[in-house]
Amino acid sequence: MSIQDNLKQITEVLPAHCKLVAVSKTHSPESILEAYSCGQRHFGENKVQELLPKYEALPKDICWHMVGHLQTNKVKYIAPFIYMIHSVDSFKLLEEINKHALKSNRIIHCLLQIHIADEETKYGLSYDEAKEILESTALQTMQNVCIKGFMGMATHTDDRTKIRTEFRNLCYFYRNCKEIYNGSNIDISELSMGMSGDYDIAIEEGSTLIRVGSSIFGDRMYNR
Ligand SMILES: *Cc1c(COP(=O)(O)O)cnc(C)c1O
Repeated sequence: MSIQDNLKQITEVLPAHCKLVAVSKTHSPESILEAYSCGQRHFGENKVQELLPKYEALPKDICWHMVGHLQTNKVKYIAPFIYMIHSVDSFKLLEEINKHALKSNRIIHCLLQIHIADEETKYGLSYDEAKEILESTALQTMQNVCIKGFMGMATHTDDRTKIRTEFRNLCYFYRNCKEIYNGSNIDISELSMGMSGDYDIAIEEGSTLIRVGSSIFGDRMYNR
């Protein structure tokens, strides 16, 4: 199947409130352009050093999403153009994003990454740590970031019931936070969950942003 066919298959099942972020990591600018020519504008990358040359080479109306772990010392490279950072997993990182967003005279949309999986290796905050950030007075002074919601990755398992439970709990947390947290730089309206293997479940459980790579571009040379 072609990139075009794959995109069509996914967008056909996408509800109106849910957007597709095409995760293009390891794939060539040519493949990205193929998706672009089908109308796809939101793309995701997980490494700064891979994102920068792609940003330089490709059309400037692409909205770039950072979906992978982000080191504080790399924030300065993407702050001038990044559309959304899905992987905010510490207050320190948020401060760094705010600092460089200010220098670029921008407001950068951020998602707090929540650790919802069983695996030890995955980054992310606990629900309590995320609440701590949302309630902190220090956040109120950081006017160049806006917290738009949450991102989560389910456990890598064939147990679809387990995946569904993890997504459902995250969505419950998201809806609760949407009710209780308000501020000039808090606007909880996005829930980033669902990848190639589980985006159908994620959509059913309330996702507003699915991050799909291999189902669009084919297999990668390495695993996530
Ligand atoms: C690679 C990656 C994806 C996409 O994974 P696929 O299984 O290829 O769809 C989504 N989110 C994050 C954070 C990733 O690193």
